[in-house]
Amino acid sequence: MRAGAAVGGAPFVQVAGRGPYAIGADGAEYVDYVMAYGPLLFGHAHPALAGGFDALARRGTVFGSTHPEEERLAERLCAAVPSVERVRFTSTGTEAVMSAVRVARAFTARPLLLRFGGNYHGHFDAALHGAGASASAGGAAHVGIPASAVSDVAVARYNSVADMDRVLAGRSASLAAILLEPIVGNMGLVLPVPGFLDGVFERARTSGALVIFDEVITWLRLGLGGAQAAVAQAPDLTTFGKVMGGGLPLAAFGGRADVMSVLAPEGAVFTGGTFSGNPLSVALGHRVLDFIESDRDLYRRLDGAGRRLAGGLRAAFADLGFDFAVTQLGSMVDFKFRRGPAVRNYDEAREADGQAFAAYYHAMRERGILLAPSANELMFLSTEHADADIDRTVAAAHDSLRALRREGIV
Ligand code: PMP
Repeated sequence: MRAGAAVGGAPFVQVAGRGPYAIGADGAEYVDYVMAYGPLLFGHAHPALAGGFDALARRGTVFGSTHPEEERLAERLCAAVPSVERVRFTSTGTEAVMSAVRVARAFTARPLLLRFGGNYHGHFDAALHGAGASASAGGAAHVGIPASAVSDVAVARYNSVADMDRVLAGRSASLAAILLEPIVGNMGLVLPVPGFLDGVFERARTSGALVIFDEVITWLRLGLGGAQAAVAQAPDLTTFGKVMGGGLPLAAFGGRADVMSVLAPEGAVFTGGTFSGNPLSVALGHRVLDFIESDRDLYRRLDGAGRRLAGGLRAAFADLGFDFAVTQLGSMVDFKFRRGPAVRNYDEAREADGQAFAAYYHAMRERGILLAPSANELMFLSTEHADADIDRTVAAAHDSLRALRREGIV
């Protein structure tokens, strides 16, 4: 991903970040929509998060023992997300999802995991086949991964209850869990169509399987209750990451107490992690929640920024005569180089014009706007993106697209 292979050219090399800006090795300042692929809800180096590290470090950065602040953070997470009665911290989203899947398989005593194409759940063996984000590159889903590691993994089309039924036909008795991003951020931004999530829960309930929501992107990006509050569903297990660590590695998985009780020492399921719940990451986790809880207007403002960007892009497309659908939810904004209505699944996402995106990526970069170098990613806004930054971005998009049209690229 960081090599920028999907868009070609020299990779972006960053030396610093400041608020909504990425500072490149060329010394130039870019309006940054990568936001580290999601964590930076408050932009780079926010003063509420970036200060006082020396004092924290002097108390110790890793203990190998549990500590009161870790317990307190667990309680705060459970209070914010009612479906989560017990939680365990990890350092990365990958570990969180991998562990949640193990817990689900242990609880149900079944092997089969159902996932959806274009979702991304980290880079462990069972997660890559059919995955979105950067996992779509080359043979990444297969090379180095033995067939045995994926023999109990099935992949269905997102937003299609019929395809889920096709994939599960004759196998639902062995289904341990259905794992999904309830709102997908890894094939661009894709929202669940009405009835899809109900279909997922119905299939899981009738077959005795669990539902795992991967909220590594969406928790705290969409609100304190995450995507599950937005879609009004209560999964059995949930995974968390990105925003919660305030820029440090902190992730978690949790859910129903009876399900989580399969974990050692109460149960037999093992998870580990030298740095899991380390006091430095946990301290930042508290700062993030403090900051969010102290600002009742935060998500309304983030949504306003998202609407401003999406509205500006829509107006630019209308002006240029492009029939590209812009998708926006809170501070996440996306569009594809593909005519017609918004994308619903990975097959549709991959119909988008990759060459046009690559040209657009470079045209925007030349104009001081940094996008993720892949059409599978979306634009992340932060509290620090001001109206002027957004308007500058829209103007750059308009100008870039006009140039690409002139060159016959779009
Ligand atoms: N789940 C989702 C939904 C993600 O977007 C990501 C990372 N992009 C992960 C899991 C994996 O998280 P990490 O990179 O921290 O391992």
